Amino acid sequence: MHSKEYIALEDTYGAHNYHPLDVVIERGEGVWVYDVDGKKYMDFLSAYSALNQGHCHPRILKAMEEQARKLTLISRAFRNDKLGLFCKKLAELTEMEMVLPMNTGAEAVETAIKAARKWGYTKKGIPDNQAEIIVCANNFHGRTTTIIGFSTEEQYKENFGPFTPGFKIVPYGDADAIEQAVTENTAAVMLEPIQGEGGIIIPPDGYLQKVQSICRKNNVLFITDEVQTGLGRTGKLFAYQHEEGVKPDMMILGKALSGGFYPVSAVVSSKEILGVFRPGDHGSTFGGNPLAAAIAIAALDVIVDEKLPERSAELGQYLMEKLSSLNSKHVKEIRGRGLFIGIELKPEAGGARRFSEFLQNEGLLCKETHEHVIRLAPPLIISKEEIDWAFGKIKLALETL
Ligand SMILES: *Cc1c(COP(=O)(O)O)cnc(C)c1O
Repeated sequence: MHSKEYIALEDTYGAHNYHPLDVVIERGEGVWVYDVDGKKYMDFLSAYSALNQGHCHPRILKAMEEQARKLTLISRAFRNDKLGLFCKKLAELTEMEMVLPMNTGAEAVETAIKAARKWGYTKKGIPDNQAEIIVCANNFHGRTTTIIGFSTEEQYKENFGPFTPGFKIVPYGDADAIEQAVTENTAAVMLEPIQGEGGIIIPPDGYLQKVQSICRKNNVLFITDEVQTGLGRTGKLFAYQHEEGVKPDMMILGKALSGGFYPVSAVVSSKEILGVFRPGDHGSTFGGNPLAAAIAIAALDVIVDEKLPERSAELGQYLMEKLSSLNSKHVKEIRGRGLFIGIELKPEAGGARRFSEFLQNEGLLCKETHEHVIRLAPPLIISKEEIDWAFGKIKLALETL
């Protein structure tokens, strides 16, 4: 079968909740993927940063194969010999005390919300059902009904109400707005250290420090959603580390936690906070299963052993410098940290989609985020030569269109 037939199948039998580029990938290795017609592309999206370790990383693959032969799932009704090892590794890496494993990013966000609320009632003494969580405009935390309820993206919400109460939305990057929104019923502030889906939005210097100190002063939990920015993407292991002295009370991880092999997410925090969960309070059939745990252990080892945060910092700076030298008439701003870069186009550039389509033809897979931003987020194992190749294509797109 050829691309057209696969696309027809998908469009006939699959729900149309995405608008993908029409490229049908069947194989991937490192930064490269291959479509069903044999054409080769460089992946510059990395599945929204789930593939920081690159496609089909051999070390993670080996861990997966070995574990899949032994035991995949036993449920949390019983214990398994991988979960404790995974929790220990992740707790040590994040310098936190406890881990609660889930599967998707959205589930981990839901878990953090439940933990924050229960902490608010049982430790802070917020009156029943009054807990508030402060979130930011332009956020992306996932797609469940509770989470979309505090999105500011109209399309994410339209026709999906009614929504869960208990969230207050303030502008992103504005610490004073958070201070003003805090009441005695505030359990937590939850935000992304850099807004990814929102268009690679970097907050002003010192924002996280200020938010943290407002939280500490008011006995409010500081929760960072690092599902996309975490695990090396921005040139640090976690994006909050770009600001000195910042350490969230609770952190949400997903995506690259499995290197793209399996849905693995987690909430990491202190005993004081995650300790609020009692048996029966929360759970997931697949969360913490031995296959997921074995994969995640290997995925974390790759990030550390191959120094992916350092690579991201170095190569990200290299790519940013090249991009900044371009002087394209289409470009409004180029911003980023590490290999997490957004090229914001001017409104008159005709939208980022046509650039993605041009680059697809040239063998470089990117995806626009919002209408006017091209997101550049290759696997962090990428080489300098491969960056040079990709840069050539981006330059060509900006000069040709
Ligand atoms: C992708 C993402 C999520 C949701 O993760 P899923 O695995 O798609 O549910 C949550 N938060 C952020 C910041 C994300 O980028």
